Amino acid sequence: MPVPIVGVIGGGQLARMMVPQALELGIEIRVLAEAEGSSARLAATEVGDYRDLETVREFARGVDVVTFDHEHVPQEILRALIDDGVAVHPGPHALEFAQDKLAMRRRLTELGAPVPEWAEVRTEAELDAFIAAHGGAAVLKTPRGGYDGHGVRIVRAGSEGADWFGDFDALLVEELVDFRRELAQLVARRPSGEIVAWPLVESVQQNGVCKEVLAPAPSASPRENEVTRAIAEQIASGLDVTGVLAVELFETTDDRVLINELAMRPHNTGHWTMDGARTSQFEQHLRAVLDLPLGDASARDAASVMINILGGPQHEAITDRFAAVMARHPEAKLHTYGKSARPGRKVGHVTVSGGNLDEVAYAARAAAAMFDDEESAE
Ligand code: ADP
Repeated sequence: MPVPIVGVIGGGQLARMMVPQALELGIEIRVLAEAEGSSARLAATEVGDYRDLETVREFARGVDVVTFDHEHVPQEILRALIDDGVAVHPGPHALEFAQDKLAMRRRLTELGAPVPEWAEVRTEAELDAFIAAHGGAAVLKTPRGGYDGHGVRIVRAGSEGADWFGDFDALLVEELVDFRRELAQLVARRPSGEIVAWPLVESVQQNGVCKEVLAPAPSASPRENEVTRAIAEQIASGLDVTGVLAVELFETTDDRVLINELAMRPHNTGHWTMDGARTSQFEQHLRAVLDLPLGDASARDAASVMINILGGPQHEAITDRFAAVMARHPEAKLHTYGKSARPGRKVGHVTVSGGNLDEVAYAARAAAAMFDDEESAE
């Protein structure tokens, strides 16, 4: 087989973390980044606008398969690539359901997958009616353009959607789910159909941003593991997803699981797999989009805990703290994304794996806390 060339659109940390895996396998990786100095700049990187058809076409010309670091490439561009004969994974017909939350809710409902009660609303009056029918509160979402909690708000009156109704024809409204915790089930699927699932994980969100991930999800019953895996596999096949699919779920207080969101690319809740699973999500994504046999996705240890490091106003670079953290926490695996540390921006993560969840969680939290601003005052 000649050396395959994978083209990744988007130069963020997800593209960056594919690079070492591509190097190890001897796969060539090229990135179309938004700007100079992107997180993925260590790969062969071109800078260009992913919303410009000719730019994307030119980039796609030299690669065997096009895949993504984000879900924002417009459908018209993806469909033009397909017409040009380019292999695009995941394809536009699947990606549509990760780009548009209304399309996603509609399709999952058709598939019979468990979702919160939802409606498409076009006016404040329609929103008011949904809120009244659902106990006086609901969750309103913009169909497109949301991330890390932007584009999601709890509403108690139709008027609270006024600004968004101006920007979108229709909005998604959902029941306010009474959940015990949030879970994520990741799978990878090849174009030829093989699917491999990682263990179910728990994700802890803070201010709409993933703070930590516990893998596998503590005290999940065999039944819950079975159900979440079946849901993710059903979605991956039903939507013809190729590459990594992340299904974000709610575990409700009455012991059901409901699907929150889909992502069709490596996902923050899968970062632990780099150190804690036999095949990382980045390697698996490359294998899947190239239609190569998938790797063993089982956990290496009884427990892994991944904590995101967010940029703060004080410190410039995450690497400033490396020596101190490494000295105190030799068990911690540190990952940094080569990004400037704007407040709240994901700039790296820490993973600790081992035999005992409490010990692993304690060590991961302690190591990650050394990157917080308060530490610098010591
Ligand atoms: P994003 O596109 O920013 O990831 P999500 O749709 O995942 O947005 O919502 C962000 C967070 O808001 C979720 O992680 C969850 O904590 C909360 N949330 C979303 N939908 C609901 C819902 N229907 N009920 C209760 N909480 C919700």
